Amino acid sequence: QVSPVITIDGPSGAGKGTVSTLLAKQFDWHFLDSGAIYRVLAIAAMHHQIDADDELGLVPLASSLDVNFETENGACRIVLEGEDVTSAIRAEEVGLMASKVASWPRVREALLRRQRAFRQEPGLVADGRDMGTVVFPNAEAKIFLTASAEERARRRFNQLKEKGHGVSITRLLADIQARDERDSNRKVAPLVPAEDALVLDSTDLSIPQVLEKITEYVQSKL
Ligand code: C5P
Repeated sequence: QVSPVITIDGPSGAGKGTVSTLLAKQFDWHFLDSGAIYRVLAIAAMHHQIDADDELGLVPLASSLDVNFETENGACRIVLEGEDVTSAIRAEEVGLMASKVASWPRVREALLRRQRAFRQEPGLVADGRDMGTVVFPNAEAKIFLTASAEERARRRFNQLKEKGHGVSITRLLADIQARDERDSNRKVAPLVPAEDALVLDSTDLSIPQVLEKITEYVQSKL
């Protein structure tokens, strides 16, 4: 009997990261931030001067990616080849590059086993784009969390402002739309809800409201 998995998929800015972290804490389960793996791969590619268009060059890098997720006092540190990249992977350019490297079928394939290894007792909350469709198709509970592109741009804008980064909201919206387009239209593991997922639109919901709805749903499934 394998341990249970809750998958939370959806576009960036829908609140997946916050909600899945809180959910994992609430259940005291493991947490997989699959987007972070693609982001780390993007940074590794930059370090090794491998182009985002070079699928064949990216595959061995993905297979042998030397990344560690270290949890210390509840905070997670992401270490690539001995270097702390926790904040570096959150840069806008890294996200765009991640979505390019993530469009290659063989790159995704090379990262499957690594992602599935996160499924451990007592359970896992997996956050991404294809958690419920490809990585954990037999998950106990699947959620597809979405929100309008405008609302997601606004949330991202506020986040960046808090961190002291000045950016234009129009530019953010354009980036989000470009990334959605690429993520939804790629041939492998496109961003679509699993057939058996609960689709939740968070545009007009607060984080506690989203968490409450998801918790109720998950409890009915476990
Ligand atoms: O979620 P996050 O913004 O960190 O993901 C960065 C990029 O990685 C996404 O735009 C998407 O292209 C890719 N990704 C993916 N599959 C996942 C998680 C992320 O293709 N499961």
